[in-house]
Parts: sequence; C-alpha cells; structure tokens
Amino acid sequence: MRPTYAVTELLGDGIGAELSRSVHTLADALPVRLDFTPVDLTLANRRARGKAVYDEAVEAVTTTKVALKYPTVTAEESPNQVLRRRLDLSVIHRPVYTIPGVPTNFTRNLDVDIVRIATGGTYDDPGRAIGDDAAVSLRIVERRPVREAARYAFGLARKVGKRVTTASKYTIQKATDGLFESVAGEVARQYPEVTHNVELFDALLGKLIMAPEKFEIVLVLNEYGDFLSDMACGLAGSLGIGASANLAFDASSVVRVALYDAAHGTAPDIQGKNLANPTAIFLALSMLLTQLGEVALGQSLKAATLDLLRQGVRTRDLGGSESTDSFTAAVAAEVGRRTA
Ligand code: ATP
Repeated sequence: MRPTYAVTELLGDGIGAELSRSVHTLADALPVRLDFTPVDLTLANRRARGKAVYDEAVEAVTTTKVALKYPTVTAEESPNQVLRRRLDLSVIHRPVYTIPGVPTNFTRNLDVDIVRIATGGTYDDPGRAIGDDAAVSLRIVERRPVREAARYAFGLARKVGKRVTTASKYTIQKATDGLFESVAGEVARQYPEVTHNVELFDALLGKLIMAPEKFEIVLVLNEYGDFLSDMACGLAGSLGIGASANLAFDASSVVRVALYDAAHGTAPDIQGKNLANPTAIFLALSMLLTQLGEVALGQSLKAATLDLLRQGVRTRDLGGSESTDSFTAAVAAEVGRRTA
C-alpha cells in the first residue's frame, strides 16, 4: 500500500490546466498516493460564484493542510492576496538556486532557502508626512511571526541537514532587529544540532555573492526578505522557474497550512499549445512532499528535474525542444527510476 496524502489543488487560469495535467501524470509515477481535492479558482468560476469559491478553497486547504496552487489571473481581486489574508499566511519560504541550463550572469553555484516573515517590518504602515519637509513611518516587529518563521527555518534545517543564518541590522535597529535576533536565538537554542550564524544584513548581501556556499537557510524580516529574494533570483537567473511555500501556523507555532505555488504567471500567450514549462510547479510539488515528511522523495523529484535540465532535456522557453507532455513524461520516468 502506498502512503496516501490529501492535497488541495487550486486550479487556475492560462496554462494552469496543462500544469495540472502534468502534475497528475507525475503524481501517478510517485511511490506515494496524492489524493487531490480540486477547487476551481479560474476567473470564470470566481466571477460566477464570488466569495463562495474562496470559502470552498479555505475549507479544503484547512482540511488537507497542504495545497498546490496554479497561477491565477488578477482581475477584480488578487486570489493570492485573498488567500494570504483568509488563511493567515504569514511566512514565505522561497528556495533560490542556480539551475543548469538557465542562463545567468553569475558564475558560481547558489542554493539558498530564504525564509521571510511576510508581515510587518516597514510594510504595514504607509507612513505620514510631518509638514512639507519630513515624513515618518512605523516599523513593526512582533514576537509571534518571528517565532513561527524561526521554528519553521530551524525545523527545516534539522529535517534536511542544513545550517541557518539570521540577518538583520541589530546593531542599529536595536529594538526591532534586536527583538528579531533575540527570538531567533531563543528558538536556535531548542535546535542545538543546527548551526546558527548571525550576520548583518548588508554584509550578508556581499558575502552571498562572494561565498554563496556559506549560506543554506537564511531567515529574515519582511523587507530584507523582499530585497534578498529578488537579488538571489537575479543571481540565479531563475525569476520564472522558482516556487515558494506560503505558510500559516497554529497557536504553538506549528505549520497549520502550507500553500505551494510557482513564481511565474498564467502565460496566456502559450495557453493550450503544449509549450508550458512545468519545472516550477514540479519544484513546488517537491517542497510539498518535503513538508509532508517525504524528504527523500522531495529531493529525488527536485534532483530528477534539475538533472534532466542539465542534460539538455528542456522546454522551448529554456532553448530546448520538449513539449509540456514530453518533458513531463521524462521527469515522471526519471523519478520512477530513482524511487523504484
Ligand atoms: P500574468 O498576468 O498571469 O502574470 P504574464 O504572461 O504577464 O501573466 P508570466 O505568466 O509570468 O506573465 O509570463 C511572462 C512570459 O514568460 C510570457 O511570455 C510567458 O509565456 C512566459 N512564461 C511564463 N511562465 C511560463 C512557463 N511555465 N512556461 C513557459 N513560458 C512561460
């Protein structure tokens, strides 16, 4: 009997249907059974059913605890924003790595997991003017989301055998960043087997470029995570191929729900043409498997996908000649071989 896991599948627009087909083909080749609950988040269904669609999505995700989301069109509302608010998704985990076959200006290997507290910082307060010549805004750091993100980062480090770096400006922003480092330090002490390094955020940016191999999991506050993710993606040249986890936690800082999605959009220009590259959604699925505790399987799926890219088995957007279906079949066969 294959172990069975319930997964919500949030169906989307554009190439979403093709990506879903690919995910099902791949899932059939896995040594576990993924029992999908589909929720139709296409624009047509959102327009027809309004809030009821989101109620259904929230209920399904809350029940299955993990979800895979395909890209959706933002029209009247942004489904990502609605889901973030309704599910209280407060932390974003974004792995960024150089992918063989994806052109980049950066010549080194980068492989870093960015864990970003997605609330607070300077982003919750638009600020206000003081007369004509000055303005002020609040910077908010709260113990709870820092603790949640830290437990997730250190838990992941323990699961996959990596070290954690926290980065901030604690020497200058003594109250806010000081609180962040203090909470992260408390959590670190509960994971004595995980190496924890502390860096100043500006120094981290330089070191990440000079010595990327030193950084495995980086835990940061909201705005730092925003800057760092884009810089890292730029270095890796993989803005459109990445995936992320959006996480919500229960009262004891345990992951309550995790929603995985691809960084790219709905790509309406190639919809229905069997040209969509399913790499990002496969990488999202690999993260989902890791979260389910299927760490080796998650790593096999990621390695199989990246090895095929390295060997030149690529879709047209990466300069190859594979279709969505043929690339999917190749990944499914490779994962099947590795896990047989
Ligand atoms: P949206 O409005 O949903 O963001 P978009 O087309 O403006 O859609 P993307 O979907 O990110 O933005 O697409 C940007 C370009 O990259 C398009 O030419 C698209 O075809 C291509 N693209 C995006 N995702 C993929 C993919 N998975 N496979 C192949 N090409 C893709």
